[in-house]
Amino acid sequence: MIDFRIEPELQAKLDWMDNFVRTKCEMIDLLYPGHGAPYDVGNTESRAYIKPLQDQVKAQGLWACHLGPELGGPGYGQLTLALMNEILGRSYWAPTIFGTAAPDTGNAEILAMFGTEEQKARFLKPLMAGEIVSTFSMTEPQAGADPTEFTCKAYRDGDAWVIEGEKWFSSNARFASFLIVMAVTNPENPPHGRMSMLIVPTDTPGIEFIRHSQTMGDSKGEDDGTHAYIRYNKVRVPLDAMLGGPGEGFKVAQARLGGGRVHHAMRTVGKCQRAIDMMLERAVSRRTKGKLLSEHQFVQGAIGQSVIELEQFRLLVLKTAWIIDNEPHGAARTHIAMCKVQMAKVYHDIVQRAIQIHGSLGVTLETPLADMWMGLPSLALADGPTEVHLAQVARAYLKNTKPAPGLFPSDHGPSRLAAYQNGVS
Ligand SMILES: Cc1cc2nc3c(=O)[nH]c(=O)nc-3n(C[C@H](O)[C@H](O)[C@H](O)COP(=O)(O)OP(=O)(O)OC[C@H]3O[C@@H](n4cnc5c(N)ncnc54)[C@H](O)[C@@H]3O)c2cc1C
Repeated sequence: MIDFRIEPELQAKLDWMDNFVRTKCEMIDLLYPGHGAPYDVGNTESRAYIKPLQDQVKAQGLWACHLGPELGGPGYGQLTLALMNEILGRSYWAPTIFGTAAPDTGNAEILAMFGTEEQKARFLKPLMAGEIVSTFSMTEPQAGADPTEFTCKAYRDGDAWVIEGEKWFSSNARFASFLIVMAVTNPENPPHGRMSMLIVPTDTPGIEFIRHSQTMGDSKGEDDGTHAYIRYNKVRVPLDAMLGGPGEGFKVAQARLGGGRVHHAMRTVGKCQRAIDMMLERAVSRRTKGKLLSEHQFVQGAIGQSVIELEQFRLLVLKTAWIIDNEPHGAARTHIAMCKVQMAKVYHDIVQRAIQIHGSLGVTLETPLADMWMGLPSLALADGPTEVHLAQVARAYLKNTKPAPGLFPSDHGPSRLAAYQNGVS
């Protein structure tokens, strides 16, 4: 039943994407650099530049591939998306040019799944068209990995929800038309039923941007940070601003985070492949001690190790995608956690080796390697820290494990043999 071949029609699409990303999207990375650049819908110059490219993607039927046909996407399964996202992962701009940039993808998914018709018309439609961008506002300054510690609240006041509290690291809020805010609305409920999601237009009175934090790779210029620290000062939104029901915030968040994590993993495969491609080229181009780098065994070791690790990781991602496509909803949870953990490790090791093989050039800002390296710590944090997912994987396996029947493990040779000889097993 396992078949690694790709149908010719899909391969033709992948080939088109690969060529387009390398020749067009990677050029946009060079022309319009910066973490915030793909989200800056107010930059008329860059938007005008990418518009014809987005039109070409649409003409190929490859726009917003993560969504079903009812929402304007082609409705590919996750396995196909894994192959496509791997290609998009090479370029920082590519997801925007293909209508699949996070966090808008996740936000679009939850709007599609939980939104009312009015919410879809007002927020999802322009988001899908790439006309606006959005923000997911969940993490708080005092709590991130454990959402049960969140305190930002929303309470009913007449015909409005009133939001009070602070949110931290709300990515791209400075460019966003609306924020999806997770707030405590039902403090009397058990921890996972206390919060709800509210859709808040960014120009609603009371939204205060305390600052837009910069991360590694940003300049320290005031205008460069993209992760907003926001204070919600009694922000009023109408009652129909709720996405999902009261107390369903966790359910809605989970619906978007699983997909987000696995899509990051798919794109990370592509970034790692790009680093390996660079490593290979460098190894056969540079000489030292009278021979090519590729003829030195340490370099061969770095290359061999990288290729093997990426192949293992790629298979994990593909299997996870297959489970999402073929097993009941939620069955891929542990595998998604595995992908989340492993992507940061594999990416770290491969990018580090690629930098090393490039020598001093590797640490300059003149190749994509520096950007890759600076993005590394975020991979181990965004969408939940590595440790949380590692523990989740372990718990999933421990849950179904029984303790040893006696003093020694059930796989203890002498005990097994004795039991066998006594006719017990
Ligand atoms: C690039 C980037 C973009 C982001 N974008 C958004 C966004 O758009 N919207 C949003 O709401 N949030 C966003 N975040 C925030 C992200 O979700 C949080 O960083 C993440 O959930 C961790 O929370 P924290 O940073 O508060 O770390 P903390 O919760 O303080 O954790 C710090 C460290 O403590 C350890 N730790 C925490 N929990 C456990 C545990 N259970 N077991 C063992 N060790 C543990 C880990 O080492 C962890 O890294 C983004 C983060 C990054 C880096």
